Amino acid sequence: MYRFARFDEPLLNKLPQKKVEIDVYHPSIPDKLRRKRPPNIPNLEEQQVVRHFFRLSQMNYGIENGMYPLGSCTMKYNPKICEDIASWREFTDIHPYQDESTFQGTLEMLYELEAMLKEITGMDAFSFQPAAGAHGEFLGMLLVRAYHEFNGDTDRKEVIIPDTAHGTNPASAKMAGFDVIEIPSNNEGTVDLEALRKVLSDKTAALMLTNPNTLGIFESDILEIEKMVHDAGALLYYDGANLNAILGKARPGDMGFDIVHLNFHKTFATPHGGGGPGAGPVGVKESLEKFLPVPRIKKDGKRYVLDYDKPYSIGKIRDFYGNIEVCIKAYVYLLMMGKSLKEVAEISVLNSNYMKEKLKKSGFYELPYKDLRKHEFVVSCEKLLREKGIRALDVAKRLLDYGMHPPTIYFPLIVKEALMIEPTETETKEDIDAYVDALISIAKEDPEVVRSAPSKTPVKRVDEASAAKNPVLTWKDI
Ligand SMILES: *Cc1c(COP(=O)(O)O)cnc(C)c1O
Repeated sequence: MYRFARFDEPLLNKLPQKKVEIDVYHPSIPDKLRRKRPPNIPNLEEQQVVRHFFRLSQMNYGIENGMYPLGSCTMKYNPKICEDIASWREFTDIHPYQDESTFQGTLEMLYELEAMLKEITGMDAFSFQPAAGAHGEFLGMLLVRAYHEFNGDTDRKEVIIPDTAHGTNPASAKMAGFDVIEIPSNNEGTVDLEALRKVLSDKTAALMLTNPNTLGIFESDILEIEKMVHDAGALLYYDGANLNAILGKARPGDMGFDIVHLNFHKTFATPHGGGGPGAGPVGVKESLEKFLPVPRIKKDGKRYVLDYDKPYSIGKIRDFYGNIEVCIKAYVYLLMMGKSLKEVAEISVLNSNYMKEKLKKSGFYELPYKDLRKHEFVVSCEKLLREKGIRALDVAKRLLDYGMHPPTIYFPLIVKEALMIEPTETETKEDIDAYVDALISIAKEDPEVVRSAPSKTPVKRVDEASAAKNPVLTWKDI
């Protein structure tokens, strides 16, 4: 609002004080593009306009309003100082076509950020180009392809993915030209080694794995899995969306992963949910470094340079260097956290297990698979469905009436009526307790009230099927 007002000040001063008539005629606009009548917008006092937009902003819900335990998304509180520093003019006013000698500070920061990520993950080199996790997966799959082609291993066309994986994993593999082979989980909720052994072959290009997986369970057979995959001549890809659970505690590089992507907008201090921008940097082991996108940031004596001289690079997957302001936020966050970074993992895992125990003990929600969870857990509402006709969707909708953001629902697909809850390390015990109380209270309510929820929100229950099939995405002037 502030920026907008400042920008428009001279114009506003020139406008007549009373009624504003909008002239629809302008000589340079061709007839066929001209409005037939003036736009139908209300002519209101500033105060009315401010109140309108302020009311709209209050109908929104973000982490500033309260807990946002959307499992797999790591909706934690992001310190405002990261935002402040990323919006410094020294960063926002540089142009990507400027000579690199004029933004040495930014390059130095990216160079140092790469070093920090290498330390955190145990990888050897990072690219900041991908704009999101899924974009990072796609780059990762292109790297897998480049690696096998370089080795003359052109028959490796299959990517193996467990049934707990995020939907973007198979989509990315497919987009990069691979065939996707899904393997079922065992009754602990982890990779079934026998199922993996059966599908591994000289056609396997890679295994994509999330660890801890989307059930919040650590794949404790990871070293065995690593050996099997590498013995078959394939690569191991790490989906780093759940890195929050192991920050400073364990490193994908040490687990034997060859390629990882991180989600800066989940783990490293960029808010998300509004559609971006984000960043999904990709890290690789040394053997894959030469395939990374160009340019790479290099240190040459005291200077930082952009190195395009990489003959084996897969090229570019995005213009310029990535979403740099998102990288700045990650950099500030890491400098602030320092050695206490490992507390992120400790507290997020503690919060998740505390919440899981309380919910389990309530007797309304069931916990399938192994008991101990990492930063998130998945409970099932099947018992509520059987006994009271209440589905996971109903519970989620009813939470809105309690003024709370629902968890992720119906994911991962292998849990029926799933609620996937990730409290994160930034929530207090009071907020977690209040959320658990709400879930228990909903389970005890009149099922009709829960099934017809929400009743207190501006928009009531929408028809999900028609919303998905017939989305109305543009304003229709009536
Ligand atoms: C969020 C997520 C992704 C995709 O990341 P985006 O940044 O949303 O593209 C991939 N895998 C898992 C497990 C995720 O939670």
